[in-house]
Amino acid sequence: MSEHAEQHHPDTSVVALGRPPRERGAALNAPITLTSTFLGSQAPEPDDRVYARFSNPSWEPLEAALAALEGSPIPGISYASGMAAVAAAFSLVPIGGVAVVPGTSYNGTIGLARELQDAGAFTLREVDPTRVDETIAACAGADLVWFESPTNPLLDVLDLPTLISGAKAAGAFVVVDNTFSTPLRQQPLRCGADLVVHSATKFIAGHSDVLLGVSIAGDPAVRERLLGKRALQGAIPGPFEAWLTLRGMRTLSVRLDRAESSAAELAQRLVDRSEVSRVRYPGLPGDPGHRLAVAQLDGFGAMISIELAGGEVAAERFVDALRVFTPATSLGGVESLAERRRRLPSEPVAVPESLVRLSIGIEHVEDLWSDLEQALIASERVR
Ligand code: PLP
Repeated sequence: MSEHAEQHHPDTSVVALGRPPRERGAALNAPITLTSTFLGSQAPEPDDRVYARFSNPSWEPLEAALAALEGSPIPGISYASGMAAVAAAFSLVPIGGVAVVPGTSYNGTIGLARELQDAGAFTLREVDPTRVDETIAACAGADLVWFESPTNPLLDVLDLPTLISGAKAAGAFVVVDNTFSTPLRQQPLRCGADLVVHSATKFIAGHSDVLLGVSIAGDPAVRERLLGKRALQGAIPGPFEAWLTLRGMRTLSVRLDRAESSAAELAQRLVDRSEVSRVRYPGLPGDPGHRLAVAQLDGFGAMISIELAGGEVAAERFVDALRVFTPATSLGGVESLAERRRRLPSEPVAVPESLVRLSIGIEHVEDLWSDLEQALIASERVR
């Protein structure tokens, strides 16, 4: 299956990868296999299927397709959710080891890392990954180093090549959460990461109707360890969820192109609004991450974070007034979503109270703008 990724543009690969063999009369799409077990043999071969917690043919087309898109020669590993993939990666840290995790990582990731430290599983070193030298210094003696770029929801773009090579030079195993960029915009394995993690729930599946995680290693030995852990920890995806995710992935390229071009336009217009004190979008020339984004990313993404000049109250009024955007957590779906992130107690305090994260969907850009504009006006009423 990986030959498609080698030969074709990624826009073609998302359509072509993970299909059944091209044989006369073959189905175009991979089937969904609903079974908990497989017919046994008294003389099993190592590759025989045994039990559907260990392997399921329904996962494999998706796992092969995403690995090819990320540039790995070996299949990925799918999980019940993005957090299951995150938890599996943390379980690679030996008991009593050291993990380096940015304090502004996705709140589930940093929340789990803190919980594991509190339980005595490992020592957590929290870093600010925009401070490259300090972060690399903190990697000395670390077992695992975590990066997410652009970050959720501050949209900081990290200097991944420098950070990854610094962490690798310190002997650490490096994981990159590539949820925000997707493999169509960035492939961290190509700059030396050991493992890429995705919440495929977001852009890859793309329709806000499924939770699924994927991790992709470059080294078969890492994959084997993770496969063993998945079989024992049991955080496997359902066959239908894997099928839905692959179906969503077919349109990833067109969805992302559309959402990204709308995001660029909306971010530019938001800069000029007096109700907005700050717009974070890596595509804006004035954004602190712009230079790195131009160097590292094949597109600036479909996420924008804005800070409301009127603070927390204005941010809440703004979200309440939206009519095309849906007030909801999550991101990466065809429908635009908005959320004041600090409404969640688990959100890192580095995220301003007035910050609203916008996930731009595929609606018409002028409808999205009219909605933002009227909600911005409403956010200042009654002040
Ligand atoms: N990583 C990032 C960057 C996320 O934004 C999320 C969820 O929002 C996750 C991981 C966790 O994924 P899931 O919700 O699929 O468990």
